[in-house]
Amino acid sequence: MAIVRLMKTSNKKRHTYNNGSSTSPIKSLPKDLLVEVVARVASDSIVDLRNMKQSSCFLKCCRESGNIESLYREGLLKFFNYPNGNINGLGDLKTAALKGHIEAKYVYGMILLCSHDDESRKQGLEHMRFLRKFKCIIKCRNKVKQLVDDLWKGNGMLVRNQTPLCRSKKTCKGWRVKKGVWSFLDDEDDDINLCEYCRWDYEIDFFYQLFDVY
Ligand SMILES: [Zn+2]
Repeated sequence: MAIVRLMKTSNKKRHTYNNGSSTSPIKSLPKDLLVEVVARVASDSIVDLRNMKQSSCFLKCCRESGNIESLYREGLLKFFNYPNGNINGLGDLKTAALKGHIEAKYVYGMILLCSHDDESRKQGLEHMRFLRKFKCIIKCRNKVKQLVDDLWKGNGMLVRNQTPLCRSKKTCKGWRVKKGVWSFLDDEDDDINLCEYCRWDYEIDFFYQLFDVY
């Protein structure tokens, strides 16, 4: 709005000068120079306005994403703290996940998916399906791996759930062929036509390995 108003004002000024009815002191300036001055002032102001808007938006985004990033890291470190994990870390991870931090969503979703409680597993599925839909599971897990590789692990917060999500494991051909941590490196390889539960069982295996859960 401000930009439009500014443009209108400068057009009017130029128009007024052309009619010769302006009493402004800049009346004495040659026409070409005046046009140039008005144009430059207007365009500078537009650039300033845009810069101001962009930088304040940028700073706001930084502040927000900074908060979410630290919330995610704190949550992760609290939950997997060695030797004693803190369950409050899960709350931080959840908050960061709900605010749109995708690695937080991955970690939170996977922790729920590893749970022994069916309702939590269902919630975990929702988070993971969201990430899979946007093809960012591998991206997320690689980032998480980078972050946690140097941590001491095995604080008992994550306990292996022996019940697979795929209930027809013995006959299902699903993801068994693709098993192995490093055989699946790209989100494009994530074939949605194969058994979805086997897909998640595979991801759960990876997650357990990541945190040294045997
Ligand atoms: Zn299956």
